[in-house]
Amino acid sequence: MPISATIQSSPSGTLPIVQIGDPVLRQYAMPLSKEEILGPEIQLLIERMKKTMRAATGVGLAAPQIGRSIRLAVIEDTSYSHLTEEQCRERGRYPVPFHVIINPKLELVDENKTAEFFEGCLSVSGLVGVVPRAEKVRVECLNEKAEPVTIEVEGWYARILQHEIGHLNGELCIDHMLLRTATTMDNAKRFWAGKSISDVKFLNNVE
Ligand code: ZN
Repeated sequence: MPISATIQSSPSGTLPIVQIGDPVLRQYAMPLSKEEILGPEIQLLIERMKKTMRAATGVGLAAPQIGRSIRLAVIEDTSYSHLTEEQCRERGRYPVPFHVIINPKLELVDENKTAEFFEGCLSVSGLVGVVPRAEKVRVECLNEKAEPVTIEVEGWYARILQHEIGHLNGELCIDHMLLRTATTMDNAKRFWAGKSISDVKFLNNVE
């Protein structure tokens, strides 16, 4: 179906982000053909998703989050002035320029090597919690020019990839969250900012 018929964008060019409970977030999304990727509809969708992600100050946005059940996500992680250098180091966070992943295949390089940090989602508005993720991943996908790309990374970028590819499989971060650590954003700032993850787990009686 043409995107123009299914997606209403705001005057600013951003798209509404669907929230948890919308069945589109729980579907296994459909792959795109090379022709579809290169066509004007998907190219326009990518531009609108980029604007939407930036307006929402997210580091990633998957197509199901704007109501399209297709295997496409946009990623960009370049602005984290709210974190100290130490926190960036701890999280393995470094600048990741804007890019598109399409039809990705995710491989967890070492499933036993995980990192735990607070994580949230634009489709689970206002809630964050500790989510264990593999430290290192390998992703094979297509870019916006339908060219094959291999991404092998660790740290925060690996977390973003697991989160966004999860969306394409109908998963949400709450499926992996240590649910006892779930908190509103406000309470995260009030009670948990500056605490180590092991303290957060201890104080919430995790395990
Ligand atoms: Zn998300």
